[in-house]
Amino acid sequence: MAKEYACRNCRRLTTGRVCPNCNSTELSSDWSGLAVIINPEKSQIAKALAAHKPGRYALKVA
Ligand SMILES: [Zn+2]
Repeated sequence: MAKEYACRNCRRLTTGRVCPNCNSTELSSDWSGLAVIINPEKSQIAKALAAHKPGRYALKVA
C-alpha cells in the first residue's frame, strides 16, 4: 500500500503530491486518526472536519 499524506489545509488523505480536494501541496506524513466520509451532508464528523466531499480524512495533522 502506498504511503498516504494528509492535507494540512483540509485534512484530506492522498497518495499523490497534490490534495485532490483543495489542490494544496501542503501535505504532511505526520497525521493520525482516520475518518471515512461517505455522505458529507448527513455526517456529523464531516461537519466537524469541514469536509464537503466524500473521501478519507485524517483527524489530526501535525
Ligand atoms: Zn486539501
